Amino acid sequence: MTAHVVRPMKNRDSQFFWDGTAAGELRIPKCNACGSLRFPPGPACQSCEAFDRGYEVAAGTGTVFSYVVHRHPPVPGKELPIVIALIDLDEGVRMVGEVVDVAGDEIEIGMRLRVDFNRIDDDLTLPVWKRTQ
Ligand SMILES: [Zn+2]
Repeated sequence: MTAHVVRPMKNRDSQFFWDGTAAGELRIPKCNACGSLRFPPGPACQSCEAFDRGYEVAAGTGTVFSYVVHRHPPVPGKELPIVIALIDLDEGVRMVGEVVDVAGDEIEIGMRLRVDFNRIDDDLTLPVWKRTQ
């Protein structure tokens, strides 16, 4: 059975990211011209406007910057509530992620998280976040 999930949009700018999750890597876009980390990804570097883009593999650890506990409306393929956090990666970029093993009343700002990968099917592996032990 294929899980019914909300599929993220994939395009030229984000394909490397999804290739990364499939390989068990959390990839952060990086400018090949000036070395700045670039997140969210876009066509041109926010620092030097170069289009020459690569990526670096993140350590996969970070800290909760803020979060929301989503209780309503229903999300296809999800049991509510779900915890969505803004996570400050140790590399210094901030990304949105789903926290899967922390209850809505336990999540807190500053909590340390580690990424894990939830393989949905051949085309999609979603990054999820768990509390560091
Ligand atoms: Zn640059």
